Amino acid sequence: MFILKGISQLEKAIEKAKKIRPRVEFDRFGRYRVSGSKGYYTVVCRKDERGYKTVSCTCKGAERGLVCYHSVAALSLHIGLARRQATA
Ligand SMILES: [Zn+2]
Repeated sequence: MFILKGISQLEKAIEKAKKIRPRVEFDRFGRYRVSGSKGYYTVVCRKDERGYKTVSCTCKGAERGLVCYHSVAALSLHIGLARRQATA
């Protein structure tokens, strides 16, 4: 799990996601399934009780606090949906 602070922390993972182009499946708002090397991982994007935007993924890298490309792939969908909700 990591706290989303800005786009700069995501740059490396964005590069990787662009190369790998994982499949992102919508589960419900804030919850996505992303294809990885060993099947699907679940990515959850939410605001915690202190108002921080947190992203968690079920892969090994994210367990150690790394920003993985699954998170970034799900985030790009999540941000698009959140924006659409805000303007609806
Ligand atoms: Zn991951």
